[in-house]
Amino acid sequence: MLRNSNYMYGSKDLVLPARIHLGEFMLDRMWSVKEKTLYINGSTNESITYGQTAQQAMNFSVSLTHMGVRKGDVVAICSENRFEFWGVIIGGACAGAVLTTVNPGYTEGEIKHVMSISKPKYVVLSPYTYKLHGKTFKSLPYIKTIIIFGEHKPSNALLYNDLAVSNNNGSGNVIVNNYLARNVKYEEFEAVDVDGQTDTLFILYSSGTTGLPKGVMLTHLNVLSSCCAPTNLSTDLLSLTIAPWFHTMGLNGALLGMAYSRTAVHLPKFDVDLFLRTIEKYKIAQVTVVPPVVVAVCKAPGQYDLSSVKIIYSGAAPLHKETEELLKTKFPNIEAVMQGYGMTETTLAVTRDTYNQALPTKPGSVGRVAAGVTIKIVDIDSRIPLGPNQSGEICVKGSLVMKGYVGKDRDSDFDSEGFFKTGDVGYYDEDGCFFIVDRLKELIKYKAFQVAPAEIEALLIEHPAVRDAAVVGVPDKAAGEVPLAFVVKQAGQAVTEKEIQQFVAERLSNPKHLRGGVRFVDAIPKNPSGKILRKELRKMVNSKKSKL
Ligand code: AMP
Repeated sequence: MLRNSNYMYGSKDLVLPARIHLGEFMLDRMWSVKEKTLYINGSTNESITYGQTAQQAMNFSVSLTHMGVRKGDVVAICSENRFEFWGVIIGGACAGAVLTTVNPGYTEGEIKHVMSISKPKYVVLSPYTYKLHGKTFKSLPYIKTIIIFGEHKPSNALLYNDLAVSNNNGSGNVIVNNYLARNVKYEEFEAVDVDGQTDTLFILYSSGTTGLPKGVMLTHLNVLSSCCAPTNLSTDLLSLTIAPWFHTMGLNGALLGMAYSRTAVHLPKFDVDLFLRTIEKYKIAQVTVVPPVVVAVCKAPGQYDLSSVKIIYSGAAPLHKETEELLKTKFPNIEAVMQGYGMTETTLAVTRDTYNQALPTKPGSVGRVAAGVTIKIVDIDSRIPLGPNQSGEICVKGSLVMKGYVGKDRDSDFDSEGFFKTGDVGYYDEDGCFFIVDRLKELIKYKAFQVAPAEIEALLIEHPAVRDAAVVGVPDKAAGEVPLAFVVKQAGQAVTEKEIQQFVAERLSNPKHLRGGVRFVDAIPKNPSGKILRKELRKMVNSKKSKL
């Protein structure tokens, strides 16, 4: 056990099941509250119970096994938020599969990049993502089978009867097979055994501190450690969520809610009017949001009855103190604005506010250390652990921290004591409350979506008129940050800011578009080994001279 007076320790009240198996754990939990509503789709009013989702999960698990899926096989899901998602996730976990979630907003190039990391054999698509990306998935040689959710659903319980299974023969034909399991009995169902301490359950994508998106390997233990976190919050509060389920906050946040048997209303996408009307209609008590949503909500005109909201939970990006205060005026009966700080590499929040009158939340703080986690703040140069009120790099250890990145050794991301180096700068105060103050890493967060500068830079230098390029985030009130590119032109070549922006917009997904603009410069500041000096770039952002 590491003991250091400058290390901050989370609660030891983390009770894990005897068998570390996410699929089995979730199925048992769900079955124990069969009749309870799990999700309500706020835009269609449709709902699904825990029992129906568990039935889908068992049917899907058996179907996967029939299709040849074995422990450790990778199954990808690329779908907008819709009920069937959870049958795939929990069913896939029960089948011993490794699951990987793909952002449906990705372009062809982005899908090909992340798929080349996890190399799934099976892909599950919705009719919508099949139309959008079916051709891209079919072109990938390692994908054996494409599974599509059915369009015509007589009832939620029968959803998987309509699944279409396509053997990927590259011809574009969808071959519908009839060997999907139906009505598998809970009493007879057995999950495929896994070694939950070490077996990967999820591969999610994050660029980490530098470079292109990488595959974050989360084990069954990582995800169960998040799901089993103790809470003081009533499990009867109806919550509203819009987080996309492919991202760790949506995925692991939803699994946490399921572990507590919560009921949630979900919206397929964010629209401020629909969001506020949904709160009014369903008398939502708890809202889980990312900061850009908070900003939009605070600025929204119109009169809505928001008196039902008691708790607002924000994460995934910085929520400023002022915005937090503003929220309290918009929601008259608010009891707590809670924050959490975490990342894909740490499953979910490693610091969080708890609903506890004895430990009140502090404005601007991201809360205290989560259960089962140890955090140290180290001096960036000397790596010495710092005491209260001193800023340094946040380093995290514990059962929420990933196993590692696919195909990358741990040495550069973990220190000699096994702490994961987050690349975020922060401090804790004398009450153990954490504050995030800066980011050492390259990452840009646009509306809480990850934008890796290296990905845009690699694309920019493919442009014939671009000799060199570097990308930084610039602050933006509504989005948090937007990417801005510094570009060195090839001698004798003419290219405009608009053309560069268009070039990126045609090839990368929405959050990566150069909303911060393009500045033409003579040279990109670099150190002698060729590493981009991002601090210098940030200084250049404020200097008018860099724009021609
Ligand atoms: P992601 O892996 O997409 O969840 O991004 C993780 C990164 O988002 C962290 O390393 C932080 O830089 C940032 N982040 C997450 N939560 C917060 C928060 N509450 N306050 C400030 N930054 C945050």
